[in-house]
Amino acid sequence: MRAHDPNCIFCRIIAGQIPSKKVYEDEDIFAFHDIHPWAPVHFLMVPKLHIPSMAQLDPEHERLMGRMMLLAPQLAAEQGCNPYPDGGFRMVCNTGTEGGQEVHHLHVHVMGGPRPWLRG
Ligand code: AMP
Ligand code: ZN
Repeated sequence: MRAHDPNCIFCRIIAGQIPSKKVYEDEDIFAFHDIHPWAPVHFLMVPKLHIPSMAQLDPEHERLMGRMMLLAPQLAAEQGCNPYPDGGFRMVCNTGTEGGQEVHHLHVHVMGGPRPWLRG
């Protein structure tokens, strides 16, 4: 597994080689708006490390994945998701072809905002 895959669209977004609407960035995590939003709020959280999917996670990624989980509610609120319990958000992490994954760089969809949504 390479830290950066030059053929990976999300690695190229993280590197600033493809433009994106950034939501958040730190040393390990990058978040940006999905180009085809399903919901009024729809952004993707990705590790900067090129991990193809959840199927490649190792114990060394425990802290990274934990940080993404803790960051999600904070970013969701900042992006305009209404507060729990009447608001809230949905997190989706498609894994593999049968799991509906199209981009093979691990990413968590965070979706929220008033319904109806386009999908989901
Ligand atoms: P998945 O089907 O879970 O692999 O989702 C990939 C997501 O990436 C889709 O929701 C796409 O709309 C989104 N996506 C693909 N290319 C871009 C891009 N250049 N900028 C932002 N989002 C993108
Ligand atoms: Zn990548």
